[in-house]
Amino acid sequence: MAEQMIHEVLPVGWLQCNCSILGDPETREALVLDPGDEVDRVLEVLARHSLTVRAIVSTHAHIDHVGGLQRLHTVTGAPVLMHGDDLDLYRHLDLQAAWLGVRPPETAQIDQVLKEGDTLRWGRFAASVLHTPGHTPGSVSLYLPPDAGTLIALSGSTKAEEGRLFAGDTLFAGSIGRTDLWGGSMPQILRSIHEKLLVLPDGTLVYPGHGASTTIGEERAANPFLQTPA
Ligand SMILES: [Zn+2]
Ligand SMILES: [Zn+2]
Repeated sequence: MAEQMIHEVLPVGWLQCNCSILGDPETREALVLDPGDEVDRVLEVLARHSLTVRAIVSTHAHIDHVGGLQRLHTVTGAPVLMHGDDLDLYRHLDLQAAWLGVRPPETAQIDQVLKEGDTLRWGRFAASVLHTPGHTPGSVSLYLPPDAGTLIALSGSTKAEEGRLFAGDTLFAGSIGRTDLWGGSMPQILRSIHEKLLVLPDGTLVYPGHGASTTIGEERAANPFLQTPA
């Protein structure tokens, strides 16, 4: 039976942004999502699993999620991907830094601009890009469907895997992203969540940008922000 995806979640930086490292145990290719900071720890995980980074993806351009983009790009050579609607926010990281009273991180060149419906591939895995604006204009979530996300089904595994959703700061366990920062919109985030996330299967595992993981079923049933239609 083929091995399942390597998936490590590291809360990084002082705002504890969840960085996810997704690796194919066969081809050793990886996707790194939101390397907020602490690139050394990310590199340690990559080295421990002998992974080569195919792409570095930013769910949105808030300072706690993007601090490590440039350094991780320099060390691995992998392209940096972000939605086009967050490029303005990214270009003005100095404003976010000043607002928080911290030094702005080095910014990376964005090698590929993401849009709704793009497919990201690494090894035998594929995830689709969902544009979920509201927390920021260019917030994205990544969805790996059950099994289809894993071409493993074709290589002999019989165990069905649940789908996985990487929700950035759009959807949290029991909460949703704040919308009071630049470019945020409460009606928009609710529409994004209802139309693009809650339509996913109940068993979908949700990995938010901060805090604990959850499932789509739990959030649809009990998230206090989502009990009335958008
Ligand atoms: Zn954020
Ligand atoms: Zn965040």
